[in-house]
Amino acid sequence: MNHFDADCIFCKIVKGEIPSNKVYEDDDIYVFHDISPWAPVHFLMIPKRHIASMAQLEESDTSLMGKIMTLAPKLAMEEGCRPYPEGGFRVIVNTGDDGGQEVHHLHVHVMGGPRPWAKG
Ligand code: AMP
Ligand code: ZN
Repeated sequence: MNHFDADCIFCKIVKGEIPSNKVYEDDDIYVFHDISPWAPVHFLMIPKRHIASMAQLEESDTSLMGKIMTLAPKLAMEEGCRPYPEGGFRVIVNTGDDGGQEVHHLHVHVMGGPRPWAKG
């Protein structure tokens, strides 16, 4: 079964067809730095399987999404976010046009580091 969308830029990143600055990878998840960071730390966490957005999540994706959310704080610290509560990080999942989603492969933004940030 093909889990990729041939026209999807993030599927191409997972397949290595487009270069990325990798933070983490396992069987289900790929994590890489955002090409246009809003903050000193800004990486994207994606399922390797093509899921267009949060709107397409099914009950069977519960453990996948739980894994991403549990991994986020660990990677945030490794990438230079300062500890909670003085530090911390911001997590955003833009979904659909009203949600400001530009790339239609589910991705979790994780941003942090000392302010001011470029955006956000
Ligand atoms: P969104 O508006 O939530 O869909 O955000 C898409 C994000 O993907 C933006 O923050 C872009 O900077 C980022 N992005 C787009 N293309 C690439 C790429 N080739 N490598 C890394 N990040 C990318
Ligand atoms: Zn995709």
